[in-house]
Amino acid sequence: MFACVAIVPGSFDPVTNGHIDVIERASRLFRTVRVAVADNSAKRPTFSRDERVGMLTEACGHLSNVTIGWFDGLLVEYARAISAHAIVRGLRAVSDFEYELQMAHTNRCLAPEVETVFMPTRTDYSFLSSSIVKEIARLGGSVEGLVPDGVRQRLREKFDQRAS
Ligand code: ADP
Repeated sequence: MFACVAIVPGSFDPVTNGHIDVIERASRLFRTVRVAVADNSAKRPTFSRDERVGMLTEACGHLSNVTIGWFDGLLVEYARAISAHAIVRGLRAVSDFEYELQMAHTNRCLAPEVETVFMPTRTDYSFLSSSIVKEIARLGGSVEGLVPDGVRQRLREKFDQRAS
């Protein structure tokens, strides 16, 4: 059987151009891609679940086989619920690998029918993370070219609000 439905999970707090690159590449490999926002309150995200879903929806508007959703339990249960065959994770550096491998093995143990696929990042986005982007924005720097335009605006609003 060919893998047709893939999940690209993450916190996306907020989505960066590195995430978009992985989502675009997944959308060329799989018939359907569901970007799944993890609603994990223990992580105390900067943006609410709805804000993160909204930014992704806007940024992925050009990809007709990509939909956005969210989950708050086990990823593999969500994968089963939407009949996904694959979980796609981006790898930026060797330092990502150890954790990602552990998660892949764990998810295989819980749901052997769901395969994990690793996608190396584009080298020019390999330094990029949501935390870095927030730090730049918080300190008043430009995040042009690092995040989708809509996200740039939301970051400005978020950190202006906090400063006032
Ligand atoms: P998580 O909290 O699950 O790590 P993130 O939102 O930080 O969620 O990342 C989601 C996925 O996107 C992960 O697979 C991560 O490795 C990948 N990713 C993060 N930043 C980049 C980037 N710059 N380029 C490609 N993939 C990335």
